[in-house]
Amino acid sequence: MQEFIVGKSHRETLVIPETSYAVSHEHAKITILDDGAWVVESLSNTNPLFVQQPDGQLVQVGRKRITPDTILVLGANNSAGFRFYARNVLGQQSDPLKFKQEFLALQSELETLQADERAFKKKSKIWDKVRMFGSGLALVLAFAIAPLFVEDIPAGATPEQELQLTKSNSQKEMNATRVMMVCVPIGLSILVGIVLGDRDRFAERRKRLRCPNPQCNARLGDDDIAQGRCPRCRSHI
Ligand SMILES: [Zn+2]
Repeated sequence: MQEFIVGKSHRETLVIPETSYAVSHEHAKITILDDGAWVVESLSNTNPLFVQQPDGQLVQVGRKRITPDTILVLGANNSAGFRFYARNVLGQQSDPLKFKQEFLALQSELETLQADERAFKKKSKIWDKVRMFGSGLALVLAFAIAPLFVEDIPAGATPEQELQLTKSNSQKEMNATRVMMVCVPIGLSILVGIVLGDRDRFAERRKRLRCPNPQCNARLGDDDIAQGRCPRCRSHI
């Protein structure tokens, strides 16, 4: 049987940064039984111990059977806590910078994002055509409907009245044309904007793609994710 105490006072097992204030001095015990089974046990009354489930959910535990590949979280799942593979307690045989499961999750997230971006591009091409066609149609209609706004000149009109009416008619025609030529394209642009949604949301989603090492958390580029490595802390798939 082998026992490993994990915590800030046990740097011989795992080096936990002093700044991880959600980690206790003696936080957890990992036992490897003679039959090869692994068990983790919480030693802290103040800070929780979590076990990550295969679906990524964290479950708080007191004592639990685990495997060497189980991901454990001490205290909190952020830079205040500490996250590691159970096998990391074995020292040099283990690799604390290995984040296979997390990188695989990042890769599938990136793939979804890229697929959504492609779909958005395709959709916006179609809607751009709708907008251009609609605006062109409005231009034609503008001239077609303008005469509907004119008043007929009465038979007995004086030359002054005739001049006045002609003037106001051309003003009305111009206004109708303007409204069609300006309002329709603006209206269509707003409509297309609503249908397509915000382009910026892709940038927002990309910002959330970060290094899985909680001590690093750097933003990762598409290439870094595809290759499964962080250029800053060298964590890898
Ligand atoms: Zn990193």
